[in-house]
Amino acid sequence: MSRKLFIGGNWKMNTDRDSAASLASGLVEAIGSVEEIDVAVAPPSVYLSAVGEVLKGSNISLAGQNCWYEPNGAYTGEISTDMLLDVGCDLVILGHSERRHVLGETDELINRKVLKALDAGLDVILCVGELLEQRQAGQTNDVVTRQVKIGMEGVPSSFSEKGEKGKKGLPERLTIAYEPVWAIGTGVTATPEQAQEVHAMIRSLLADMYDRQIADGLRIQYGGSMKPDNAAELFAKDDIDGGLIGGASLKVEDFASIIKAGM
Ligand code: PEP
Repeated sequence: MSRKLFIGGNWKMNTDRDSAASLASGLVEAIGSVEEIDVAVAPPSVYLSAVGEVLKGSNISLAGQNCWYEPNGAYTGEISTDMLLDVGCDLVILGHSERRHVLGETDELINRKVLKALDAGLDVILCVGELLEQRQAGQTNDVVTRQVKIGMEGVPSSFSEKGEKGKKGLPERLTIAYEPVWAIGTGVTATPEQAQEVHAMIRSLLADMYDRQIADGLRIQYGGSMKPDNAAELFAKDDIDGGLIGGASLKVEDFASIIKAGM
């Protein structure tokens, strides 16, 4: 099954106002009219508006890096789904390993955010992935299975009319990013075979949780030190449907090369 690749750039807590805008305008120039691949960038929340202005009219979507599950109220420092929609976001990254392991987010908390974001009309990139010690202990499949099952608990297979994009099936609304924690920001990339093995496991889990059609349609990105020189071999694998890119998404040339490697 050939799925349209989806490549996201997670800028994390990097850039300032000027460099965020100039990174965005460099990307618009380099890959802003690419149609063969879906592309999104996730700037820091305070620069979403500025970056959104630059992306207007291009094919690059705007993503939040996180959101909260309540609509409003006394949640100091948090960002609601309506706020993300208000500044032009189409989607949000949830469950990133830095939020899980540095900021202590649990699968249950992530699930509440996933449900809220989808209900509000934001598409979701749900990140999952094992720690090095979990891989070494042979627990990769168990960890990732738990993260997918709890993270997606209560997520329906299709959506009634909600949000700006109207009715859509689950594969259009949610993407899973498999990001082995030992590969994120370390320069160590999973081999294409290691990544493919986990991606195939996730797809068969989705077939059990939903059905074969949903499992075949839902995109599974790989994330973890993806770079221009290793992207093509990862994208060549059957179950790798794109990438979530951190470090290399901060350089126009590198991010554009990764996208071109997928074309
Ligand atoms: C990420 O932040 O999701 C990521 C994969 O980072 P990096 O590409 O820098 O490893």
